[in-house]
Amino acid sequence: MSAALRYLSTRNANTHATLSEAIAAGLAPDGGLYVPERLPTLSPEDFSAGGTLADTAATLLSPFFAGDALAGELPAICAEALTFPTPLRALTHHPKTLVLELFHGPTAAFKDVGARFLAACLRRVRSDASNPLTILVATSGDTGAAVAAAFHRQPGIDVVILYPDGRVSPRQAHQLGCFGDNVQALRVQGRFDDCQRMVKAALNDAALQAQSPLSSANSISLGRLLPQMSYYAHASLAWWREHREPLNLIVPTGNLGNALAVVWVRAMGLPIGAIRLACNANTTLPDFFAGEDYTPRQAVATLANAMDVGAPSNFERLQWTYPDNQALRAQFRAQSVDDRTIAATIAQHAREHDEVFCPHTATALHLLDQYRAAGDDLPWAVVATAHPAKFESVVEPLIGRSVDVPSALAAMLQRSASAESMSAEDGALRGWLLDKAAQHVEI
Ligand SMILES: *Cc1c(COP(=O)(O)O)cnc(C)c1O
Repeated sequence: MSAALRYLSTRNANTHATLSEAIAAGLAPDGGLYVPERLPTLSPEDFSAGGTLADTAATLLSPFFAGDALAGELPAICAEALTFPTPLRALTHHPKTLVLELFHGPTAAFKDVGARFLAACLRRVRSDASNPLTILVATSGDTGAAVAAAFHRQPGIDVVILYPDGRVSPRQAHQLGCFGDNVQALRVQGRFDDCQRMVKAALNDAALQAQSPLSSANSISLGRLLPQMSYYAHASLAWWREHREPLNLIVPTGNLGNALAVVWVRAMGLPIGAIRLACNANTTLPDFFAGEDYTPRQAVATLANAMDVGAPSNFERLQWTYPDNQALRAQFRAQSVDDRTIAATIAQHAREHDEVFCPHTATALHLLDQYRAAGDDLPWAVVATAHPAKFESVVEPLIGRSVDVPSALAAMLQRSASAESMSAEDGALRGWLLDKAAQHVEI
């Protein structure tokens, strides 16, 4: 058995943690992001052909888990979390135009993969029902629903979701409020940034933590990042076995969580060719890859709202992977796609090919349309991050008909939903959490 990998902070290589500790903590104590001290390497022959996504995940992640307290549980964690397929589907109009569909989980976005894996890990490192762990999530939509679904009715863990009232789609709001039991939704009278600030203030409040242990489940957690590598490994290995050529990928990108996963899979030695990043009108990454200094900025609102990010949090991990900016820029290209083009791409593919995509997926699809128009005949997979039915208010007017709703999403929309209103003040969340802790003691 190989020696245990240690996990370091992107901001301080002397901060060491085990994988379990890094997953439980989320953020490193110095505010950095946890990374493995090195990326393990594997080859296609290490994987058994014909395995499920969970089998691929268990093989891929075993060097990351080796020596950790959770190592023996890894196959069970993968089997429990990865219960839905992530098919690589060829579109009919070009045999090498593929879509990697990541939206077949319970809340119809790729966030289900990471949230379910994190939940499966956390329930093994923590299950003290007498003093529940409260997971705080600030969400602009998809993350909150995935985390709520993943932790719903898990003993010893409560979930509190903060979302900006009136700034998520009606279907997203319904999803956030429909769980009940150990999941509580709070509709904050402010913006997403207020929700994030309130969560950070609570997490950094030692006196509050002493009363009510808190953790977060945002996308910087290794427990969400690592499992996202599985579907890239699974798809690229399947393509490799059949065609003996690497698969090229275009990833819709906001915080760089999903894209960093494919970067790491390629760096581990699996057969992935070019990686292209598709962004919306938020141009922080396209500007950097075009040669400008990295300049985080305020996000602008777009049709692909889950990618409305001006300061991609995983950029630190990308820089850790390729410390030299020249070398980093040589690895990728990033391109910005504006709202008009997103809308035109959705409308055109519905009209010409009878295929319906979500606004995020449409950014990547547009890049591929450009490559094909320029004569590129390589195998490209566009990563489909969400089902279009989640964004029906954008998609349906563009295609002139309704979008079929996947059954898991339909079931959620049938349940009743409720959320408590909260003012956008740190003290409001603090008081609410203290009340909740006091009620638990009485029970
Ligand atoms: C979260 C999300 C993204 C962006 O993913 P990152 O990991 O933040 O880059 C893209 N599309 C959808 C539908 C999402 O929910």
